[in-house]
Amino acid sequence: MIEDKNQQRTQLEDLGEFGLIDHLTANFKISQKSTIKGIGDDAAVLDFGKKQVVVSTDLLVEGVHFDLSYVPLKHLGYKAIMVNLSDIYAMNASATQVTVSIAVSNRFPLEALEELYEGIHAAANVYGVDVVGGDTTSSTSGLLISVTAIGEIDKDEAVYRSGAKPNDLLVVTGDLGGSYMGLQVLEREKEVFKVNPNNQPDLDQYTYIIERQLKPEARKDIITLLKDLDVKPTAMIDISDGLSSEILHLCKHSKVGCDLYEDKIPLDPQVISTCEEFNIDSTTVALNGGEDYELLFTISQDDFPKIQSNPNFSVIGYMQEESAGIHLVTRAETKIPIKAQGWKNFKG
Ligand SMILES: [Mg+2]
Repeated sequence: MIEDKNQQRTQLEDLGEFGLIDHLTANFKISQKSTIKGIGDDAAVLDFGKKQVVVSTDLLVEGVHFDLSYVPLKHLGYKAIMVNLSDIYAMNASATQVTVSIAVSNRFPLEALEELYEGIHAAANVYGVDVVGGDTTSSTSGLLISVTAIGEIDKDEAVYRSGAKPNDLLVVTGDLGGSYMGLQVLEREKEVFKVNPNNQPDLDQYTYIIERQLKPEARKDIITLLKDLDVKPTAMIDISDGLSSEILHLCKHSKVGCDLYEDKIPLDPQVISTCEEFNIDSTTVALNGGEDYELLFTISQDDFPKIQSNPNFSVIGYMQEESAGIHLVTRAETKIPIKAQGWKNFKG
């Protein structure tokens, strides 16, 4: 489906490790005042003054987290940054720096890594974070990308998973399930392509969900919006593994129960139509699909009027006493316990 557009193939060993980093990061500029020293010494130097520092790391492995037969390297670079920034925003913090480390096998020429770094550069630019370090090494099996994101926050402003109280409202941003359904479409097209490489897929009706999968956006805008609305969530988490597992995290850390209303879960029309086409239940997709990188948070009921008419937010349930348990209230008004799905990267 994605043809090799790299006509030129420069072998990585022609540059050497340090030459490679210099080459890939040559046009990265510093924009954060907390960055005292970025790339170019043994370590970066950061100065946050009186702020608290938030740190998060993710590791992406070819064949486990991404499939290069349909994920363009530029998108992969962008997404690797998004996945990490999303965790910083989920703390109510602003993201300031990232480090990017990669391990590559010799099947990747320099031109492929340039594409990857174009995506990293674009994400860093759009979100205003500095790339301040990283490492490159060789790998015997495919591509690994590890990103560490750093953010800052005023003292006492961090929002943890542990602050939700009974009767707090459960709120989610954007819509859910798009990324998972986008992946289903891409997987299907990959199979079609294997049988008939000349077949040009018509993906027009799936543009939104494919973009949700290939080029997710972390919700930096929501952190700003919540400040503007003068709403501080009582607990917050980002949706990387799916709504159900994130709700379970919030409930476990806050020691509360929850009622989630099926009819309140926000779904894009393209998710609904694609679920119908694939004969998959859209609620299951929202609950277990993951990779939406939306924010899930709880607020005191007193704050409800502040978010009520804002299209970015959907109130999807409320927190209960821990003893009440954690349930999905279906459209038919039956209560189904929400259970852990396990870690999908380890599933067959
Ligand atoms: Mg997270």
